[in-house]
Amino acid sequence: MAERSEELVDGVLRKATSEVGLDVEYVRAEGNTLFARGRDGSEVPVSDYLGGFGALLLGHNHPDLVAGLVDRLRRGAPVLTQLSLAPQANEVVDTLNRVLRREFGVDEPYFGVFANSGAEGVEVAVKHAELDRALRAAELLAEVDANADAALAAPGAEVDASALGLPAGTPVAEVVALLRERNAATLADPPRLVALEGGFHGKLMGSGQLTHNPDYRLPFTPLGARALFAPADADGLRAVLEGARATVHDLRVTADRIEVVPRDAPVFCALLLEPVQGEGGIVPLPAEFAKRVQELSAEFGCPVVVDEIQSGAGRTGAFFAASQLGLLGDYVVLSKSLGGGLAKLSVTLVRASRYRAEFEMLHSSTFGKDGLSTSVAAAVLDLLEADGGALYRVVAERGERLGAALRAVRDDHPDVIADVRGLGLLRGVEFADLSTSGSALAADLQAQGRFGFLASGYLLHEHRVRLFPTGSAPSTLRLQPSVQVTDEEIDRLATGLRALCALLRDGDDAGLTAF
Ligand code: PMP
Repeated sequence: MAERSEELVDGVLRKATSEVGLDVEYVRAEGNTLFARGRDGSEVPVSDYLGGFGALLLGHNHPDLVAGLVDRLRRGAPVLTQLSLAPQANEVVDTLNRVLRREFGVDEPYFGVFANSGAEGVEVAVKHAELDRALRAAELLAEVDANADAALAAPGAEVDASALGLPAGTPVAEVVALLRERNAATLADPPRLVALEGGFHGKLMGSGQLTHNPDYRLPFTPLGARALFAPADADGLRAVLEGARATVHDLRVTADRIEVVPRDAPVFCALLLEPVQGEGGIVPLPAEFAKRVQELSAEFGCPVVVDEIQSGAGRTGAFFAASQLGLLGDYVVLSKSLGGGLAKLSVTLVRASRYRAEFEMLHSSTFGKDGLSTSVAAAVLDLLEADGGALYRVVAERGERLGAALRAVRDDHPDVIADVRGLGLLRGVEFADLSTSGSALAADLQAQGRFGFLASGYLLHEHRVRLFPTGSAPSTLRLQPSVQVTDEEIDRLATGLRALCALLRDGDDAGLTAF
């Protein structure tokens, strides 16, 4: 029986992290720095490259955001006023529309739906897309019904029902009955949800089924709508869409002829993708593929949900990472950095031509669109958009500096580091197969998918750098510092990585765990 309260919260995880020295308590945070409680009780500054799993682009406790929050609380501004006017939420969505126009050159507005977390934002997009699909299916069936009524009212007409496999001379009533039965059966099939291999969209009952990692997905598959997974290449995606398409049958009715004609059935609910796969190992979507996605979406009638939860809100040097790929979604989901590291919220943007107002009654949450989180998001957008978007340029510059430092380490240690990737302040360092490296410990932990944690423990204790591996690619370290990251911090990270590579090469297992 666990006795101390900390064993009742993530006790197993804590034990695992303590084995590699990651069981640290952080007692203060400012900018890109976290202060750990040292063994003697002193504060030990640590450079935060994990950045709250990517939510801290503006750093910890940004003074303007803190001041705004404190001011609101002191003034007694309400936090929860459901179903009343929500000026901050409107301001957020207005600003997001201005940014969409600037970065994508679109005129069409996007509606905003607020929720509490990234995974919930994804589920909002998928639920909305499913409502839209069901309404489109009902509209299609109503058209077919009207044509069927017209056919039944034209008894003398010649009937061609070969598309249904019926012989010439089949009575119209029989054709209509079979057609209605087949259409109803086709549209009763579960919706097709398509996501990319390596993708991550959350861990809730629905979003967990869109996350490719089988460890997170398979134990819960019976609970949620299943997804089809496609590779990030146009031919591969086309093959998946092709394999999932379905037809319904309509009737073309003229005065003397009735013909059964196939039409695409609206079976595709959504295609989900991240412009830069985060948990999948910091993998930017190939530019060629991104260009083809919208084409395939139009061809198959499959709306695109761009998950910018990790990559969006300035992280890659533009507000939307997808704008750098020219990939405009029908839905765009934002969360993480939009909350400025102080608030938990998500906004799901829905293209106006797809928006179904019915949805407003169908999805809500007590805490969604609350006054605190929407006011923080409005302030975050002010900071990002200030001075003609100066901050995006700083992100791009810091990102280049970080990327160059990482590439230099890889060039010096190609046997240990397989790849460095990323965009802006979203970077990944992938370690090579270490089974033949000098380090038995690293080889063993890598085989168990735990090498990244060993590396993280070493870098934390020896170089005061906090980072973690990505959620689904355990040999890739993620680097998502705040925009305040300094040259000194980047150099210290590079020094730490170089030292780690040398220990791995030399098989110095004692050095890896000397803390
Ligand atoms: N989508 C992406 C791309 C993410 O990176 C994450 C979180 N890592 C999520 C969805 C889920 O967000 P949350 O953890 O807030 O539910």
